[in-house]
Amino acid sequence: MQDINSFIKIGVDDTDSPYGMCTTYVMHKIIQSIEENGGKLYGFPNLVRLNPSCPYKTRGNAALSAAFIVEAGNESKYLDIATDMVFKLSEISHPKTNPAVLMLKGELVPMDIVEFSRNAVKRILNIESALNFMKKYDINGVAINGSRGLVGAMAALGYDFPSGYTYEIIAYRSENMWGKPRVIDRESVIKMDAQTQNCTFDNYDYYNDEIKIAPHTPCPVLVGIRSIDYKCLKIALKSLKFDESIVGYRIYKTNQATDDHIIPITYIEQIEPYTSITIEVKVKSLPSTEKGGHTFLYAEKNGKELRLAAYEPTKQFRNIIMQLRPGDKIRVYGSYNPKEGEPKTLNLEKIEILEIAQYGKFFNPVCPACGHRMKSEGKEKGYQCPKCKYRMTGSKELKFENRVISIGMYEVPSRARRHLSKPFYLTVKKN
Ligand code: ATP
Repeated sequence: MQDINSFIKIGVDDTDSPYGMCTTYVMHKIIQSIEENGGKLYGFPNLVRLNPSCPYKTRGNAALSAAFIVEAGNESKYLDIATDMVFKLSEISHPKTNPAVLMLKGELVPMDIVEFSRNAVKRILNIESALNFMKKYDINGVAINGSRGLVGAMAALGYDFPSGYTYEIIAYRSENMWGKPRVIDRESVIKMDAQTQNCTFDNYDYYNDEIKIAPHTPCPVLVGIRSIDYKCLKIALKSLKFDESIVGYRIYKTNQATDDHIIPITYIEQIEPYTSITIEVKVKSLPSTEKGGHTFLYAEKNGKELRLAAYEPTKQFRNIIMQLRPGDKIRVYGSYNPKEGEPKTLNLEKIEILEIAQYGKFFNPVCPACGHRMKSEGKEKGYQCPKCKYRMTGSKELKFENRVISIGMYEVPSRARRHLSKPFYLTVKKN
């Protein structure tokens, strides 16, 4: 007997612009529409964060996919439904918005597409590979304003959560509220955070007193709550207090907080532009805070140098960087986005201090007659006390700094954390 059901997967990307929309909302509406037309959502939809260093991204580089059981022979009807929704909701008037929607038939994802997806989280990929997969595997779809969105839509189809997964419940606002300020009761967020502390994460930045569950963009999202388990999410959402009603919500399976974007490397020469890496290095210079409040220092490995940056938005994290000293052994995590005229610089997400070096500074000797710090008379000319004028030869005195920093992990505060960055205290589920 012929199977009356068929399995399809829809992938969508690049529907928003800095002025509005959110690809999760487009997928939410696609799911609603497909279900209204007889399709059945299979499992959680996937919210896949792609390479955070990708220069084409608008914000969080999200791509979405969802699987459905549909009536066999009618698959193209569901692709049409998804395409109509993408046309209806995407920010097509913005030239840099290149929406794409793709449909893969069958439950099995070809391994070369899986590899492509894994790479899309780590590296920069070309549109041709996505177009080739469309031909090779009969993947139908549409790209609008150019083909760039096909990369993300294809990556969303094939992603298999190789570094584990988390969840996010996203609640949407009614259209008349899009672009208006979000009024969220701070106390209700803190209470929810406390009540769900073994399940949700990154709800509130206690160091900087900031709500972390609401975006600051004019998009349809009211709040998003992240978790390691989906079971606590509906209760967490219901416990929040807002000044408006939500028009719908959905739980997504995500690669947020998994560190899947990080490529472990051994040598500084292996750092490629637009990637995020982890490497063990030795601190080479004293840290300094420069114009704009950005903190920098140099590290080295096998004679090659790397500049490390903790930018102003990382706030308290800069105080940790300021305590590093030449000779300290550290493991760094961060991304490299090349900028003209700038040395190779890693934008730090977190560091692990592995070894703390003894660090000393040389001082002029103290006057044996009156106890004042002496002044040098010039190279090899000895010292003179500025107070009592006592003179003597002698050498500088080495004073070791009392190092107060400890071995361990240090990371940027919640407000500056990338979607993909794993807080070091978190354990995520693995497939
Ligand atoms: P969101 O705001 O929904 O979080 P975003 O708006 O930051 O995401 P998009 O609007 O989806 O990002 O734009 C990212 C574009 O870059 C898409 O066209 C996508 O196909 C493309 N892209 C994403 N990752 C890669 C990659 N690794 N290599 C090449 N192109 C990529």
